[in-house]
Amino acid sequence: MKTACTATPISKTRTSKRRFIGLAVAWCISATLVGSCGGVQGPGSRVQSPGSRVQSPESGAPIVILVSLDGWRWDYLDRARVPRLRALASMGVRSEGLIPPFPSKTFPSHYSIVTGLYPEHHGIVSNNMIDEAIGERFSMSAPTAKDSRWWSGEPLWVTAQKQGQIAASMFWPGSEVDFGGVRPTFWKPFDDDFPNRQRVQEVLKWLRLPEPERPSFITMYFSDVDSVGHSAGPESSEILATAAELDREIGVLVDGVNTLAIASRVHYVIVSDHGMSQTSTRRVVVLDDYIDTRTVDLIDSSPVVGMWPRTGTAEDIYLALKDKHPSLTVYRRADVPAELHYNSHPRIPPVIGIAADGWTVTTRRQLDDWQASGRQLGGNHGFDPRLRSMHGLFIASGPQFRQGVIIPPLENIHLYAMMARVLGLRPAPNDGRLEATAGVFR
Ligand SMILES: [Zn+2]
Repeated sequence: MKTACTATPISKTRTSKRRFIGLAVAWCISATLVGSCGGVQGPGSRVQSPGSRVQSPESGAPIVILVSLDGWRWDYLDRARVPRLRALASMGVRSEGLIPPFPSKTFPSHYSIVTGLYPEHHGIVSNNMIDEAIGERFSMSAPTAKDSRWWSGEPLWVTAQKQGQIAASMFWPGSEVDFGGVRPTFWKPFDDDFPNRQRVQEVLKWLRLPEPERPSFITMYFSDVDSVGHSAGPESSEILATAAELDREIGVLVDGVNTLAIASRVHYVIVSDHGMSQTSTRRVVVLDDYIDTRTVDLIDSSPVVGMWPRTGTAEDIYLALKDKHPSLTVYRRADVPAELHYNSHPRIPPVIGIAADGWTVTTRRQLDDWQASGRQLGGNHGFDPRLRSMHGLFIASGPQFRQGVIIPPLENIHLYAMMARVLGLRPAPNDGRLEATAGVFR
């Protein structure tokens, strides 16, 4: 069984990895929306600058609150009415985008953020995957997702706990996994019906603990924007309304923190795992037009199809699909471009098809089902992370960070080392570089 202590192979090694996922999974489904906004204080009151946020002169070890707003595309920050996030950005650092790993899917990307590893090195090569050695299928909504054999690398909560700090997780992919006996001191089984406001209150409760019990690293997760992005699309009015609702939750968090003596020690790192692209029933690649889909095990769904042969060979599949449709790029595992870091893990399917931005790749049967039910296609992600549509959110605000700075798009594999630096932790081996986030620090 892999443990966090086992060094994960770093960039030089190659193993493969993999891909991605169904849409309607718990992690992608919206949580209960809590519409009201009963902040302890009004927006502006103590939030102006990290330096001035101090409520008491107490000084002490840094605290990091890592918040994921799943599926928040980079441009929502400017398009939606989100004053609290903009305030954090203006008193801190924002990037023009946060670049996910490939595939730009929930589990691989979240786990890259907390390990600094590309999916081919941390093993969560997609939201759904096969491991012939384990002999099971991984699905992010199934019990297999808690089996530590799937998870390599060392998430930051393990790094913190191993070095004597206390970590807490108000949800995060991987937070329910036992890494060789190490877990966050505080964590909860994932339940997307757990109301957002209660997630915030739970974190504030942890922060009110006395110093010896208080976590220094806390993760939070909110799924609503991803869910609405899938159903209504990234250009919809619904997505802006949902973004505004989550902004109110951020406001409750910040206002709550500002009532605490530790406020001046808190660093907010607010991220998303990927962006969102509008899809359409007019942009669909139907695999059955080129191949007998009964001969293929389609382990993952659009816009990336990972294909294992059921009968015949992987080469048969590759040759049947290669260059057949201008909006479907097909690779043998070994030929996936180096920039995607997606070759070396054995869980990466032997043949991978990647749809062009905004396209869907599926089977005839699925398309027929959609058409019969009148389903319209909303947004999707998983596409090439170099596409602007796949870029997510990055805001860093706190005493160690610069103020009012906008940096170019940043790969999310650099955030593990960045957060370790804030917390004074020695990072485990990872694919990120501290220099990549040098512009974030004062
Ligand atoms: Zn999603």
